[in-house]
Amino acid sequence: MSEEKIQFSFEFFPPKTEAGREKLVTTRNELNKLQPKYFSVTYGAGGSTRDNTLGIVTSMKNEGFNVAPHLSFGGDDEQSMLKLLGKYKNAGVDRIVALRGDIPSGVGGSLQLIYANELVSFIRQHFGDHFKLAVAAYPEIHPEAESYDKDITYLKAKFDAGADYAITQYFYNPDAFFYFIEQCDKAGINKPIYPGIMPIINYKNLARFSANFGADIPRWIAKRLESYADDSASIHVFGLDLVSELCETLIDNGAPGFHFYTMNQVEPSANIIKNLGLSS
Ligand code: FAD
Repeated sequence: MSEEKIQFSFEFFPPKTEAGREKLVTTRNELNKLQPKYFSVTYGAGGSTRDNTLGIVTSMKNEGFNVAPHLSFGGDDEQSMLKLLGKYKNAGVDRIVALRGDIPSGVGGSLQLIYANELVSFIRQHFGDHFKLAVAAYPEIHPEAESYDKDITYLKAKFDAGADYAITQYFYNPDAFFYFIEQCDKAGINKPIYPGIMPIINYKNLARFSANFGADIPRWIAKRLESYADDSASIHVFGLDLVSELCETLIDNGAPGFHFYTMNQVEPSANIIKNLGLSS
């Protein structure tokens, strides 16, 4: 596959503070120079960042950025969801990352989450083909999945409901991704699946996220990162080499592009893109 065709997107989370919002303006302006296909903005569990995500997406849209909100039903009913989707449509948004999401911490078991395939169906039913729809995929399998095969069956259900492509949870073992793609092929999934790429910036946070999300950090990588302790310069150098090589392997084996979990930072993702020669 030629490198010209490799596309990439950047994900942000909505900052909670004014300082974070100001930093995000610089971050998105810098990352935009790399000419990503689009940016995306996450949605807090249970819709907890509804206004913040909507605010960032609409202001980015007004400034001419190509930007997609992440979205889940959370605790919303169909009317609230239709209203929110209408606001996105009116703001000129034409792409959504459609998710089930998680139950926010501290909200007991009363919240009944709506599966992502149902959200995709709902959006298609009410908005036709207006939105390009992305869904989540898990090469190392979603932590709550009944089984490997069931998780793929439900991914297929998201495509059958009308999803256009999937973005994966991050991973550091390319074989897990290649095997997953093979299994998706066998299940009749023929839409693009973009690897989610998490640059390595801080080992403690990465280990915490990975335990929560069911993403595996191979033992040798964990041991190497542990050995650097608080030496963040060494973590950055090792992480940049490791993740750049991972991306090269993925490109060599046909990955259509990447979705970067930027953690609202410029350099970690930008340096990988530069290493890959994807910046124009
Ligand atoms: P689903 O696809 O609905 O799957 C959830 C679980 O249920 C899986 O175990 C699956 O096997 C099973 N399942 C699926 N469909 C059915 C069905 N019809 N019947 C029975 N079982 C089923 N979280 C956020 O809170 N905000 C975000 O912005 C966010 N962005 C993300 C972006 C990406 C690219 C990824 C990979 C994840 C993101 N997440 C986000 C995390 C995601 O919300 C969680 O992983 C969540 O637990 C599952 O969401 P999903 O859309 O994958 O769920």
